[in-house]
Amino acid sequence: MDFNLPSENDPRRLEIRAWFADNPNPTYSQIAERGLAAPNWPAPWGLSADPELQYIIEEEFAKAGVIPPYNINAIAVNQCGQSLLVHGTEAQREQFLPPALACEHIWCMLFSEPSGGSDLGAIRTTARREGDHYIINGQKIWTSAADKATIGVLVARTDPSQPKHKGLSQFILDMNTPGVTVRPIYDMSGEENEYNEVFFDDVRIPADRLLGKEGDGWRLVMEQLQTERSAMTKPGAVWGFGPTARELVSGLIATGKIKDPLVRDEAAQLYIEGEMLRLLVYRNMSNRLNGKPAGLEGNLGKMIASPHGQKLSDLAKRSQGAAGMLVNPDVLPLPEKHYGLFNNWDYAFWFGPASTLGVGTQEILKNTVAEHLLRLPRDSDPTAKMPFEEINKTKLKAAS
Ligand SMILES: Cc1cc2nc3c(=O)[nH]c(=O)nc-3n(C[C@H](O)[C@H](O)[C@H](O)COP(=O)(O)OP(=O)(O)OC[C@H]3O[C@@H](n4cnc5c(N)ncnc54)[C@H](O)[C@@H]3O)c2cc1C
Repeated sequence: MDFNLPSENDPRRLEIRAWFADNPNPTYSQIAERGLAAPNWPAPWGLSADPELQYIIEEEFAKAGVIPPYNINAIAVNQCGQSLLVHGTEAQREQFLPPALACEHIWCMLFSEPSGGSDLGAIRTTARREGDHYIINGQKIWTSAADKATIGVLVARTDPSQPKHKGLSQFILDMNTPGVTVRPIYDMSGEENEYNEVFFDDVRIPADRLLGKEGDGWRLVMEQLQTERSAMTKPGAVWGFGPTARELVSGLIATGKIKDPLVRDEAAQLYIEGEMLRLLVYRNMSNRLNGKPAGLEGNLGKMIASPHGQKLSDLAKRSQGAAGMLVNPDVLPLPEKHYGLFNNWDYAFWFGPASTLGVGTQEILKNTVAEHLLRLPRDSDPTAKMPFEEINKTKLKAAS
């Protein structure tokens, strides 16, 4: 790594800090107008910020106590909005990006299905062209925020005669279209539901809502997932966000729990892991500052960050003893800080198990790291080159 972190007196930092001082409770529309919603995007949307300026902006959001738009509307700002920038039409950008950056339109990602989560090439939802519309039928599952979203980025099969990864396309779907039904799924955190099932019954999408070209779906999904995984290589307890090992250790010191040698030993290991993740973030930043494109390292980062987060909240809970069985007992103090969703150890503990499944399970990340970073032989998929419509017929024949 060959860079110094921007100082407290960095003029760029002072400028951003002054803006937050002049706008102490900014609306998300003001934040977007100032270019702070997606600072790395080009004008008129962002500031074409390099990774260093992005880092400054992220820090200044935290210091100002404002939850950044990428925590409120992550799918639009972090994952899928960029696809509109690169592959969308001018009309799509003008219609969909301003309300997304202002967090007026929340987006969701309609990818996983009962037939395909890890293997997204197995999805069965169809998009049949009929005049100037596509007709959508099928079902999605585990769709985060679908119940709040006004826009869904949908992957559906437009050509079943193509191999499983080739006949897919992406669409920008208005979630209020007739025929779309959203049903919440409640998880054991007991908090507001994170994810949902979504059903499509003869849903009509205008053809000009196709993102990119017909058949581009798989390529777009891969781009979007890499961005999402990179964003999760952070030392926070859930998805890289929320309290970190540093905060856990401060809490253990403040409550005297650190005096227990077993707790101290575990906390020390976690502290080291947390610092390693912090260095990985800096290394990614350094790479990008030195002109190297964001690569597949996000897979490695997420593979380490998710179990790390689970271990953090597990120790936080256990160290609280019987009080840890109560919801939000506040026994282990956290600094006054806005983390967005995962604001306390209790929530992080109950939701944490989902983090090693969502956005790629551990096994899938390991496969990707093995195949693409270590160049080991590929996980074999005998169905990969077959026309999709033949796959089930072959399976049925083999079973009979
Ligand atoms: C909190 C959360 C939020 C989510 N949000 C969204 C969302 O917004 N949009 C969306 O589309 N989806 C979302 N998902 C779904 C998520 O992407 C899938 O759950 C995930 O990809 C796993 O797919 P699956 O559930 O079908 O499990 P499966 O793919 O059936 O996997 C079951 C098990 O088999 C293992 N496995 C599968 N294939 C292999 C292989 N080739 N080699 C070795 N092991 C394998 C897996 O690792 C796993 O342990 C979310 C999930 C969670 C938990």
